[in-house]
Amino acid sequence: MADDLLRLTVLGSATPYPRADNPCSGYLLEGGGARVWVDAGSGTLGPLQRHVGLGELDAIWISHLHADHTADLLTAYYGLLYADVRRPAPLPLYGPPGIADRLAGFLTNGPDRSPVEAAFEVHELYDGHRARAGALGLTSGAVSHGMPAFALRAESGGRSLVYSGDTAPCPALTRFAEDCTLLVCEADSSAHPADAEPVHHTPEEAGDTARAARAGRLVLTHLGRDLDPAEAVSRASARFPGPVEHAAPGAVFTLGQAQAVPSGSCRPVSRRQSP
Ligand SMILES: [Zn+2]
Repeated sequence: MADDLLRLTVLGSATPYPRADNPCSGYLLEGGGARVWVDAGSGTLGPLQRHVGLGELDAIWISHLHADHTADLLTAYYGLLYADVRRPAPLPLYGPPGIADRLAGFLTNGPDRSPVEAAFEVHELYDGHRARAGALGLTSGAVSHGMPAFALRAESGGRSLVYSGDTAPCPALTRFAEDCTLLVCEADSSAHPADAEPVHHTPEEAGDTARAARAGRLVLTHLGRDLDPAEAVSRASARFPGPVEHAAPGAVFTLGQAQAVPSGSCRPVSRRQSP
């Protein structure tokens, strides 16, 4: 792949637990000569290896600490320290404050964080955090999910891809996504509960966010289990004039070239909102 292209491969997009044919949230982001695993939802480490091994990854970026975005960090840790993966240094891990302690709570039998930091070079995110992986620029922006949570803006070769992570609609996300080439926005909620503060988008709100940000394209991800992908795309399209697609598992979005190659299918079976 040319270094000036940006490419996102959907490893999984289900929530809050995997479907038979769709892991939870996880993506492979490629650009600027770098490969970044974006969110490590349960089931994504397997399909990641169709494209890149843990030994060749340049970084991991985690939006927030809900298990459907982080669970496979646990098994990645075993791969990095106790198996056949060879790296010259710990794997850079960008994530919310407290991520190392959270992992240590699962992975060690005490307060010692050192095994975690032997596997991962931990960088805690904050609003406006900037990092580079190769020539790929990674900016993190705080969003609204009832806990520390971040969106990601990846830039390379004049193209920009924004991933919302999990968030309710908020001015911070709209500003953060301004004029991006592609917005990957969550649409977890079919409708908001009357008795709780929203922590997710509906498909209509994802369309509104994309339109307000003047995004070039919109990809809906993290659809709640009561949302049919085709229906969600239709609902978002009523509010956003640009192309709208679903982040089906296996879909590949290449900026400047398009196109999605979805595989698998999602069937609505129940309803619920969060995590
Ligand atoms: Zn969440």
